[in-house]
Amino acid sequence: MKYSGYAYVYTIGCQMNVYDSEKLALILSSYGFEKTDDMDKADIVVCNTCSIRHKAEEKAFSFLGRFAKIKKKKPHLITVMAGCVAQQEGKKAFERIPHLDIVLGTQAFSRFGKHIDAVKSGKLRVVDIEDSSMIYEAMPDSTCFDENKISRFVTIMQGCENFCTYCVVPYVRGRERSRDPEKIVEEITLLAESGVREVTLLGQNVNSYGQKEGGISFPQLLARINEINGIYRIRFATSHPKDLSMDLIYAIRDLDKVCNHLHLPVQSGSNQVLKKMNRGYTREKYINRIYDLKKQCPDIALSTDMIVGFPSESKNDFYDTMNLLREIEFDSIFAFAYSNRSSAPAAKFPNQIDEKEKLDRLNQLLALQEQYTEKKNKDLVGKVLEVLVEGKSGKKRDGFEQIGKNLEQMTGRSESNKIVHFPSEHAKIGDRINIRIKDAYPHSLWGHPVGDCEYR
Ligand code: SAM
Ligand code: SF4
Repeated sequence: MKYSGYAYVYTIGCQMNVYDSEKLALILSSYGFEKTDDMDKADIVVCNTCSIRHKAEEKAFSFLGRFAKIKKKKPHLITVMAGCVAQQEGKKAFERIPHLDIVLGTQAFSRFGKHIDAVKSGKLRVVDIEDSSMIYEAMPDSTCFDENKISRFVTIMQGCENFCTYCVVPYVRGRERSRDPEKIVEEITLLAESGVREVTLLGQNVNSYGQKEGGISFPQLLARINEINGIYRIRFATSHPKDLSMDLIYAIRDLDKVCNHLHLPVQSGSNQVLKKMNRGYTREKYINRIYDLKKQCPDIALSTDMIVGFPSESKNDFYDTMNLLREIEFDSIFAFAYSNRSSAPAAKFPNQIDEKEKLDRLNQLLALQEQYTEKKNKDLVGKVLEVLVEGKSGKKRDGFEQIGKNLEQMTGRSESNKIVHFPSEHAKIGDRINIRIKDAYPHSLWGHPVGDCEYR
């Protein structure tokens, strides 16, 4: 059926959810709903949820909860809970949100339109948390293109079967399955034709891309994407340390569009914690992988994910994690306090750590990393980095006004994923500009285009 009206899609969580929300918006557009950024205008509201940590889950309930009053005034409004919390809660979601119309699990996207029809024709409450071995495919169209958005996420695989003991992903996203490489190449070609210059390929463990299906490997997929005209940069996440192959290391080294940056989540620096997490590698193996990588790509930027306060993590285990940070010197980290998820095995592990202690460890870890992030940024002062321009910079540097009347302060990212601000008269979104770094701050760099006059 075709309807008229506005759709508001709210995304909580990871990059994969951002990508999924774009697909949900595409479905809504094919049913006649126009995308809006104004929640008050909406005739259908979709909250695409995340259940990785307790806080994200609560955010979903609180967002949808506020529609109780709005629905009283606007009874035709359709409310939808999509994604991981929907998959996890199923019909239990109605207990906390009685005014919810549709619970759309992570593998139910292909049936979303049918459920909207059902609600429109008077059906109360639809729940779809069926599993599916198929990946929903929808190619981007003009409704998704935005000339100001030159960087996009592209999911290449879904699900996970690593079963890390803290993690809900295998339970809410299903078993691992990979997209057909032809579809991925077609999608990225369309994105490139619409002006996209950078893609980030997404999967829970990109190293096992295509293995089950017996198709091409991840490094081979990277080589295919490297050939697409118009794409300047390729990033990917996430690479699992236990499966990081030499072929992938060579691909990072040899394929010119693959960025010189690797996100390699370690989670903990303690072997006993890694074992309990079921990560499938030791601290020593992780360090050796980094050594292999640095041998081939000496300037590579590294980032990681870490969890503190996993059940039974002792002070010494935590110090092992702190020491790993000192040993590797990551460019940046994402650190989390362990969050107990009832569907994951670690919820039942003994010796859960007190919340205050977890927070204390998290703050110590972040404070230590801050020093390395700043040090890594300072090491770049005087160097020239190629920056892909993303737009005007919101923040102006002190004294910026004095350096030139016609200059805009622009912003972009280096290959190593550092935010770089710089003044320019001519730079446009999507340009690649060489910037000489003049100053380093904890979370960004500042410089000026090479060849231009000195600004200070
Ligand atoms: N597949 C990726 C991997 O294995 O590295 C990670 C995907 S997960 C969506 C992103 C990050 O969330 C993880 O790397 C982990 O650090 C964190 N995370 C997952 N479950 C968590 C939990 N129960 N508590 C705290 N952080 C968690
Ligand atoms: Fe979760 Fe582990 Fe799978 Fe990553 S690899 S999604 S942390 S189960």
